[in-house]
Amino acid sequence: MNSFDERLEHALAKVRARGQWRSLRAAEPGAPGRIVRDGRELIDFSSNDYLGLARHPLLAGRAGEWAARLGAGSGASRLVTGTREAHLALEAKIAAFKGTEAALLFASGWQANAAALPALLAAAPGAAVFSDRLVHASFHAGLAAARQHRFRHNDLAHLEQLLDSRGRDAPARLILVESVYSMDGDRADLAALADIARRRDAFLFVDEAHATGVLGPQGKGLSAGIAGIDCVMGTFSKALGSFGAYVAGSRRLCDWLVNACSGFIFTTAPPPAVLGAIDAALDLVPTMDTERAHLAALAERLRTGLAAQGYDSLGSTTQIVPALVGAEDDALALSARLAEAGLLAAAIRPPTVPAGTSRLRLALSAAHGAGDIDVLLAALGTRA
Ligand code: PMP
Repeated sequence: MNSFDERLEHALAKVRARGQWRSLRAAEPGAPGRIVRDGRELIDFSSNDYLGLARHPLLAGRAGEWAARLGAGSGASRLVTGTREAHLALEAKIAAFKGTEAALLFASGWQANAAALPALLAAAPGAAVFSDRLVHASFHAGLAAARQHRFRHNDLAHLEQLLDSRGRDAPARLILVESVYSMDGDRADLAALADIARRRDAFLFVDEAHATGVLGPQGKGLSAGIAGIDCVMGTFSKALGSFGAYVAGSRRLCDWLVNACSGFIFTTAPPPAVLGAIDAALDLVPTMDTERAHLAALAERLRTGLAAQGYDSLGSTTQIVPALVGAEDDALALSARLAEAGLLAAAIRPPTVPAGTSRLRLALSAAHGAGDIDVLLAALGTRA
């Protein structure tokens, strides 16, 4: 063991002592809306496969066809030899879906956020960033060097107060929000945010990871039809069933990212199989209003049941429905009890969520039936 290994050992011992040890466990696909773990099929309330597309034959089929035609890998980064016609056509299709001038593919949503932010800030050194307290960890990875002001979750009066009092001398100001918050399942008021951004001459960046495919007309996200949003990102890894992400906005924005975004320039272009799956999902998603309505009805059924059983669902209005528990150990115990009853509902605890707000994050899918919600509510029982 060298001295670095000793440090690792010590750091891991601290994680264990804090009760925050995490490890990887395998799970395999089961029937729709189900997952197999330790040889048992469980109803899956923890995956983000909101429309049940992850195993759709059109996605898997097109992924295979494009790999067979174009190869398993794209061979180089986008600016060298990695760009195929398929990348450009898909980016045009994403821009049309999002109603923007242009779009760029990224390897993942995490990478898109972590890489696009520093690139944006490089265009305006010293820019001030105003972010909702609950924005995703990937933003913080890109904001290490930024002047950041965090406003209370979804509290637009607080945002306005900060905009009026902080960073007024900054060369530019950037507001960061999600359209649907990943752990609370509530929404931002994007029309009001666009108005605030316009009045304060700020740039508005919206993460649509959990709205893309699910909300807005034809699943185009909550940004659809709202003028004044400067940059939208989203992932193909959740409702769209596969992998990868996009950043969409003006041609100027995308030109800048192609020229300045390290996480776009210095990484290998997304491979053909991934492009094929995304292309197929973009064909299917606009046609899935029935599935979206079913999903919304399931979420409503769950929220009504949770409220009747004494659980706070933290203002959720989407397919992500938290059941607040509070203490970490209680959330873990409840999750374990549900697993015994045949349900996978992961406990989410600090540091992912604030201390004292450990919860079950119940992620619904159009592959679920009303009966699955009833089984879940019965297993949860009345809040202790
Ligand atoms: N943004 C948000 C709000 C997310 O919840 C996630 C995924 N957990 C990401 C970005 C990252 O997306 P991906 O999984 O595609 O890396």
